[in-house]
Amino acid sequence: AEADHAMYLEKHRPPTAARPGTVLPTLEAQLARALPERRLRLHYQPITDEEGTVRTVEALLRWEHPTRGLLPAAEFVDLAESTGLIVDLGHWVVDQACAHLGRWRRAHGAAAPRTVWINLSPAELVDPDLGTVLGAALEENGLEPADVGLEILESGFADSRVLPGLHARHLDGHPLSVDDFGTGYSSLSRLVELPVAMVKVDKSLVAGVAHDLRRRALLDAVVTVAAGLDVQVIAEGIETADQAKAVLAAGCHYLQGFHCGAPEPAETVVRHWAG
Ligand code: C2E
Ligand code: MG
Ligand code: MG
Ligand code: MG
Repeated sequence: AEADHAMYLEKHRPPTAARPGTVLPTLEAQLARALPERRLRLHYQPITDEEGTVRTVEALLRWEHPTRGLLPAAEFVDLAESTGLIVDLGHWVVDQACAHLGRWRRAHGAAAPRTVWINLSPAELVDPDLGTVLGAALEENGLEPADVGLEILESGFADSRVLPGLHARHLDGHPLSVDDFGTGYSSLSRLVELPVAMVKVDKSLVAGVAHDLRRRALLDAVVTVAAGLDVQVIAEGIETADQAKAVLAAGCHYLQGFHCGAPEPAETVVRHWAG
């Protein structure tokens, strides 16, 4: 049976398998080279207020893959986390985001976004160098901790290993936000314990809110609790004018999504606030 199985595997070798003698680079090996080979990009997505004015931006990581083109974070962040590569990538993200915000301020003054938001995974929050890396990037670009917000998934706020790092960044003066709110398990009760400035309501809750009364009821509850705790609410994944109208009517303060502007490079995203 053993031999049969080996023969079966031999016959049914997937067409993409490497020919004997060739060694294909794994995605992990390629990702490990992304930083030294300067293949990382940082895109920025506008976050707008009810008037459509860009108030802040979110920095989203991209990878110029050697053969597959420009990959969004969704396609490699899990791998970056499981391999630990995310810590080094994150240092680069911090440097880039601070440099860009500093440049926008110098070029556009008060029209520039007030804050750049950065995503942090649990491994980055437990990294003992994070505070130093942030502090150096702020200083180099003439920024304050309040200018750089940190987005953490709901699950991160529930992780006891991550909490000390979160509190340290809060004490440094960084605004914190709960990302993808409504997809996790801890939800509303967490907001009482944690010093968050923002919750970002996930697109799964936003989708259908214009027509679905049950989703609308849930969003209303989030907005009510947030208002009582002095927490601002961003609705994520806004793709239509109907959704924008519905979430603003529900009391959300800020909008983010393809309807308001897709993530794009630093050089072009400025058109949202510069002319
Ligand atoms: P996120 O922080 O929730 O970011 C929002 C994701 O939704 C982004 O995907 C964005 O491109 C996408 N998006 C924006 N507007 C819309 C819309 O209207 N409709 C839909 N369907 N999608 C929209 P992306 O860039 O692939 O990022 C995926 C996740 O990867 C992020 O989710 C964040 O958790 C993580 N991530 C991104 N950049 C970084 C980073 O620099 N460091 C770390 N640790 N994680 C990152
Ligand atoms: Mg985010
Ligand atoms: Mg999100
Ligand atoms: Mg997400």
